[in-house]
Amino acid sequence: MPDGAIAQPQSTPRPLIDAFGRCVSYLRLSVTDRCDLRCAYCMSERMKFLPKSELLTLEELVRVSDAFIARGVRKIRLTGGEPLVRRDVIKLIKALGQRLGNGLEELTLTTNATLLEACAHDLAAAGVRRINVSLDTIDPAKFREITRRGDLGAVMRGLDAADAAGLGVKINTVALKHQNADDLPGMIEWAHGRGYDLTLIEIMPLGDTGEDRFDQYLPLSAVRDALAARWTLIDEPRGDFLAGPSRYVKVNETGGRLGFITPLTNNFCAGCNRVRVTCTGRIYMCLGQDDYVDLRDAIRADAAPGQFPGASSEGVFAARPEEAPDRALDRALDRALDRALGAKPEKHDFAIRGHGAAPALDRHMSMTGG
Ligand code: SAM
Ligand code: SF4
Repeated sequence: MPDGAIAQPQSTPRPLIDAFGRCVSYLRLSVTDRCDLRCAYCMSERMKFLPKSELLTLEELVRVSDAFIARGVRKIRLTGGEPLVRRDVIKLIKALGQRLGNGLEELTLTTNATLLEACAHDLAAAGVRRINVSLDTIDPAKFREITRRGDLGAVMRGLDAADAAGLGVKINTVALKHQNADDLPGMIEWAHGRGYDLTLIEIMPLGDTGEDRFDQYLPLSAVRDALAARWTLIDEPRGDFLAGPSRYVKVNETGGRLGFITPLTNNFCAGCNRVRVTCTGRIYMCLGQDDYVDLRDAIRADAAPGQFPGASSEGVFAARPEEAPDRALDRALDRALDRALGAKPEKHDFAIRGHGAAPALDRHMSMTGG
């Protein structure tokens, strides 16, 4: 338990259970919609970002997190956009790190790693133990092409810093028909050689990117067949509640783990244990559906941060107050969580059926928090 963390709360949390009996224990919290890259499957080249005034403040992000922890959420992943481009994000991570051991079991983030070199040490010191790094190629020219601007050298320095800080790294790689299909075995060998798990992801039709997703989409069923012809893939049993939608195999020849996230070819919604909150405070109960509940209204209906129970001179950045689950002042937020859970859809229904098809949703992944 990091310094400043406090003892377990006395009362039992009222769990977040949806209409299909699924218990939500995992929050993905987007801290910004902005990014320093423009990955061709994620954003459009001329992406318009939200005015900063629409974003939840760092204090509000902590309050939202506390409300979820009080309802049994045990894992929080910060995401975006690129979480590390948000000014003072380390302050937020330190505040959330104080919740570890006090309801929260894991604090992590998903990052493109371009800014990781400078913050890897702070992340580890705040209690982050492992991170996901999104990387689709280890070829510098292809990296620049896929991200439409990125410098692979910065990512590699970020990874070296993560290793030096003792952070566990998992690589996430979106499988792309033309841009990385042939390089995937080399990526897997590289990642396993560095001691990283690697998870392959099918592209999802979210938001207009100015590119035709049919030209990019590579079904992982075909990738798996090709890899199985080259290597021995040994299925791993499903993991614990934190494991998520990945199906893992061990690659006998490299000794490393390889995951497959297949939203298109193999729906995994029956075991969904997560919700997503955007940087403006909307809770999306499903990445692939439009239903949301606005938590920002609820937060602002509740007490002002200065009145927050347990607030010290550091306000809500102090350790989570012991009476958090019962406190009166966040009732509107708590009711909003009940409304959201009651409306969690059964499943997404993505498809990429042909050339020129419109995205399944207008919302980009970078808005919902991937
Ligand atoms: N910027 C950070 C990063 O790239 O790791 C965090 C946010 S990014 C939206 C989170 C993940 O979503 C990344 O792994 C990215 O590859 C993935 N992603 C973005 N758009 C996607 C899409 N349309 N289909 C599948 N994955 C996507
Ligand atoms: Fe930025 Fe991540 Fe989207 Fe790439 S995938 S544009 S790094 S938010």
